[in-house]
Amino acid sequence: MARSLNERLAHLIQGEQTDAVIRLEDRVTQRALGNLDDDFTTLVRRTLAAWTTAFGGTTGDATSDPALRRILASVRAAVRRLLAPLGPRAQRALDDTLTDAVLLGARQHAAFVRDATGRNPGTPPPRSRRPLRDAAAHVRDLVADRRDRALAMLRPAVSRRWSQVLTSIGTARGALSAVRSHITWVVGQAVNEGLMAGIRAAGAQKLWVAEQDACVRCAAYAGLVADVGDDFPGGLSWDPQQRGRGEPLPAPPLHPACRCRVVAWREEWAETGVPSFPEALRREARRSVARGFSLPTESNAARIRAARELLRRGANLPRSVEAYAATAIAAGRFTDRNVPTGRP
Ligand SMILES: [Zn+2]
Repeated sequence: MARSLNERLAHLIQGEQTDAVIRLEDRVTQRALGNLDDDFTTLVRRTLAAWTTAFGGTTGDATSDPALRRILASVRAAVRRLLAPLGPRAQRALDDTLTDAVLLGARQHAAFVRDATGRNPGTPPPRSRRPLRDAAAHVRDLVADRRDRALAMLRPAVSRRWSQVLTSIGTARGALSAVRSHITWVVGQAVNEGLMAGIRAAGAQKLWVAEQDACVRCAAYAGLVADVGDDFPGGLSWDPQQRGRGEPLPAPPLHPACRCRVVAWREEWAETGVPSFPEALRREARRSVARGFSLPTESNAARIRAARELLRRGANLPRSVEAYAATAIAAGRFTDRNVPTGRP
């Protein structure tokens, strides 16, 4: 069966265009992190060897203070050495990519409008990027914060057991995932800036598009339309417990690691006799809540609360989908939270 226009537009944004953004993020992440993940694995292995040699095993407290001090001093030095180049390298990698990311957003806007209307809107020039540069610079603080917390833990008064040393190294290593999700955040901001420039130039409204496995907060924004100069409301969520947190915002990302986007929308682009694209997105989001489509990192309890709220308000979905949600709610969990591959 031929895809409807709404399906093709959703597929363009959530598939091809989001994939292009992810490729860009991956490039920046690769440059920022280099071999650090392996380096931390090596650090853990070497420290474990030194610990076992000094104390005979990994259970119980360290039995010799001088040996403990020596080991901790060497781990502190390694953490400093490994993390020192990360912040500046991540900032540089981001700085070098901001213009590309804004341009990518602008080009993706043009491709979307072409598919939605059959007309070519042209690509507007990228706009000022000062707040983006500030956001990129913030990556250094994130690294410094993880480093300092780890260094404070790597003291004989705090770390006397192997498990505590391992936790401390894990805290330092947490800088890598912090950098990764900050890169998603900044690239997402830049891409949305490019999209916004296109939306402004087109004199259109902005329409929020979330991923199919977006979190319960982002799913509440999916399909919302706002005037270009207006903010989207703050604190929306399908999970009643997560409502009311967060300020109004002009565009996604809503949180680190969020890959939501805005696209241009004009009411006259809707085809007669079928739901408009914003309506289709809102329905898709309700379906995702009912089916529990989500990343493993999101709380299952939050998904269940969201599904319960959806049914309480009236899901307006096929009976089989609503029954699926009711079964999951009764069981207290969604067993399979993956978005099925291959679109309907
Ligand atoms: Zn999002």
